[in-house]
Amino acid sequence: MKIENHFQFESNQTPLDPAGMLAALLEAGYSNTGARRAVLAAICQTGGQASPADLLAVGRQFHPRLGQVTVYRTLEILQALGLVRKLHSDAGCHAYAPATHDHGHHIICQGCQRAMEFEGCDIAAVVTSVEAQTGFQVQSHWLEMFGLCPGLRIADCHLSFARR
Ligand SMILES: [Zn+2]
Ligand SMILES: [Zn+2]
Repeated sequence: MKIENHFQFESNQTPLDPAGMLAALLEAGYSNTGARRAVLAAICQTGGQASPADLLAVGRQFHPRLGQVTVYRTLEILQALGLVRKLHSDAGCHAYAPATHDHGHHIICQGCQRAMEFEGCDIAAVVTSVEAQTGFQVQSHWLEMFGLCPGLRIADCHLSFARR
């Protein structure tokens, strides 16, 4: 279980708030259960991005009887409510990261796998080009970027990079 490296918060990220996520769930008509609260706490504790398996492991610290089905179901609900975003990694597996912007995207560090949300994607020229090439009318898009985070300058990130 490699959960230690992407659990740090970036100081310039919006602080994550499990209470705010819970309020949004309740407002959408979902019930307040210990298992759900554990998933929310795990998402906020993991910060950058986490796989369902990571969230299960961390969530069990809050609710020992937390099951995988609840983790997946809660992630589906949170994704539908726009509170988490599903990320595709080049390893081919999915991870989830908290989403705070209605229309945001994530950038993922290729060194330490940390994910950060960003706003603002000026892709009008790309859309025009795609429509001209394909005849489609573009209605939505999915964007992820990859790079090296500022933390790569510190030893910790180099270490995690070397371990991969
Ligand atoms: Zn990094
Ligand atoms: Zn966009």
